[in-house]
Amino acid sequence: MDILIADDSAVSRRLLEADLKKWGYRVITASDGTEAWNILSGEEAPRLVILDWMMPGLSGLEVCRRVREQANDHYTYILLLTSRHEKEDLIAGMEAGADDYLVKPFDQNELKVRLGPGRRIIELQRELLAAREELRVQATRDSLTKLWNRRAIFDILAKELARCQRENSVVGIVIGDLDRFKGINDSYGHIAGDAVLAEVADRMLHSIRPYDAVGRYGGEEFLMVLPGCDEDSTLAAAERMRESVQSSHIELLGGSLDVTASFGATSLKKDAYATPETLIRVADCALYRAKQDGRNRCVYLPFE
Ligand code: GH3
Ligand code: MG
Ligand code: MG
Repeated sequence: MDILIADDSAVSRRLLEADLKKWGYRVITASDGTEAWNILSGEEAPRLVILDWMMPGLSGLEVCRRVREQANDHYTYILLLTSRHEKEDLIAGMEAGADDYLVKPFDQNELKVRLGPGRRIIELQRELLAAREELRVQATRDSLTKLWNRRAIFDILAKELARCQRENSVVGIVIGDLDRFKGINDSYGHIAGDAVLAEVADRMLHSIRPYDAVGRYGGEEFLMVLPGCDEDSTLAAAERMRESVQSSHIELLGGSLDVTASFGATSLKKDAYATPETLIRVADCALYRAKQDGRNRCVYLPFE
């Protein structure tokens, strides 16, 4: 684990550093409070800190305060080192945000065990943050295709529509649906069908721009949200996706097969108003038309 030592005395720093390295820490050092604050306010800052109270520039107390003020998901565990030993000093140190307090000269073994709770807090918090991130991914991503799930892509569309109204801009949407997919399941089995869905999702994802969004809207249906796209560019994006789906065989364990998809597209013009539902309804009608006209094609219908 990384640990920062901030102390203006080179001798103390070296002694501390030798001990901490012996105990398995990766040590970063700062020779005054300003340098310590620069390190602590940077990216990937160490989460465990030993701060000397009296330092030129910013004092240890001031560094403590600043660390506590910065909005950050990650907790920084601070142990304050000082030669002050009055009760008021201890209170001032803890009030500034220190987690613990050690009076110089201190016993090395005491320092070693006092760093234990800091390590445990930081490790626990890392696990919590990782679990929270995992939950966030699970709540917004489709597990098979890794695309946005239905709720997430719907939310993205709703937000994009609100932005269009605010900024008087345009947005295109496209719904794609695999052609005769039931037949693929029937002939090759559901597992192979799943693999096809994942591959098609990947192809669609790689055919859109970084600021477009694509989600799994239903079983074998996908919804794309294309900010800034008018009729022509929405249709062009749908055409690129159609091309990418049918561009090459999809390799499966038992052989390879060709897949196509049909696309229904529409867009919201400037000064127009739509809800996600009304816009999707028009794209759905366009999709239905594409299916009726023979599949493996894109149809655009204007949103009136
Ligand atoms: P069309 O060209 O008219 O769209 O024909 P289709 O066969 O694709 O359409 P239909 O709606 O009749 O069938 C959709 C099929 O998609 C039926 C369903 O079993 C399959 N499907 C939906 N979700 C999944 C999934 O998660 N995995 C697999 N393997 N199949 C799925
Ligand atoms: Mg289908
Ligand atoms: Mg369908």
